Amino acid sequence: MARGCIFCDIASGKVQSRIAYEDEDVIAFHDINPQAPIHILIIPKKHIANLNETSDDDLKLLSKLLLVARDIAKKEGVSERGYRIVLNTNREAGQSVFHIHFHLLGGRPFGWPPG
Ligand code: 5GP
Ligand code: ZN
Repeated sequence: MARGCIFCDIASGKVQSRIAYEDEDVIAFHDINPQAPIHILIIPKKHIANLNETSDDDLKLLSKLLLVARDIAKKEGVSERGYRIVLNTNREAGQSVFHIHFHLLGGRPFGWPPG
């Protein structure tokens, strides 16, 4: 738990969010400023700033985040249509919250390359 981290506060329930999934390791919640009809953030409850700060010990946790994203995509009905998972790392990629999170985006077509 990192002090002053908004996602740690969401994970602990100190700050309210619209929760899509939760277990002992992971919490997923709707983005406050959605960029698509479905925009859900999937995070570990443990504070890790970004992918650069992960270690080999995080293997299971990181793969679990993706499996949770897969299950939420199915539940939200976008598995077959398609969806995008985004992991921004550091400033040039647009990371603004320094607690690692996957974006699950769906419900509309996405362009490639990304902006
Ligand atoms: P990043 O830019 O770091 O990849 O993504 C951070 C995301 O967190 C943004 O899409 C932003 O809208 C979302 N976000 C920031 N603060 C909050 C918050 O307090 N609650 C929720 N639900 N989402 C937030
Ligand atoms: Zn945090």
